[in-house]
Amino acid sequence: VLEGRDLTKRFAGLIAVNDVSIAVAPGAIVGLIGPNGSGKSTLLNMLSGVLPATGGDIRLGGARIAGMPAHRFPGLGIARTFQNIRLFDTLTVRQNVMVSALIRWPRASIAEATGNADRALTDMGIAQIAARRADTLSYGDKRRVEIARALALNPAFLFLDEPAAGMNREETDALMGTLNALRERRGLGIVIVDHDLPLIIRLCDRVLVLNEGRLIAEGEPEEVQRHPAVVEAYLGRKHSQ
Ligand code: ATP
Ligand code: MG
Repeated sequence: VLEGRDLTKRFAGLIAVNDVSIAVAPGAIVGLIGPNGSGKSTLLNMLSGVLPATGGDIRLGGARIAGMPAHRFPGLGIARTFQNIRLFDTLTVRQNVMVSALIRWPRASIAEATGNADRALTDMGIAQIAARRADTLSYGDKRRVEIARALALNPAFLFLDEPAAGMNREETDALMGTLNALRERRGLGIVIVDHDLPLIIRLCDRVLVLNEGRLIAEGEPEEVQRHPAVVEAYLGRKHSQ
């Protein structure tokens, strides 16, 4: 189990995340929702070691990992994607994914890194575009490559920051099917940030709602969906991004 306990992040005068606890078990999908600026990305940034927490603790299997440098997190089995796509445009899809495997295992052979990349591409359902240059892909395919790149690290826990942003309904539904299959096949624990409430309700085992850095609701999807703060925040905005 990966746990963030009482996590707080301050930026100068601003408290971006305020005393939030979150736990994700292997094979579970946890959803993180909340308005723009509510602290979702900042929480993922702390859990993935990208940003040091101002307060609180991060534990993996009970052992403290908060304060470890970011580059150690993949080795602990923690991988993530970012809200903005960060592919190498002039590399192929396979090369983009191999880069992350080679950074994690610098002594791996090219054959090993290729095998790892191809497994990740297959799991994401994009093996057929492995040889395409990244800058020729559709937006939805780029987002899948991003996730494949995280998967090439063979993580136990995967954090996805708005993986369906910019996707149409069909692409989004297909991605959710892929994530569900991944959770089952690899036993991955997933934390997913998204603005699409119905999608989060359908996909997740547990949902956390942030507002202005604070956890304002948490529970099983049906409970959270009925929470007054959630009803108010999402009523009539279902289709807005
Ligand atoms: P969005 O839905 O727009 O992605 P979010 O929930 O991911 O929003 P965060 O990006 O975590 O929100 O930001 C939370 C708050 O912290 C915001 O007020 C933001 O401006 C601020 N913030 C985030 N990163 C930094 C930073 N590096 N320096 C200063 N302030 C920051
Ligand atoms: Mg964000």
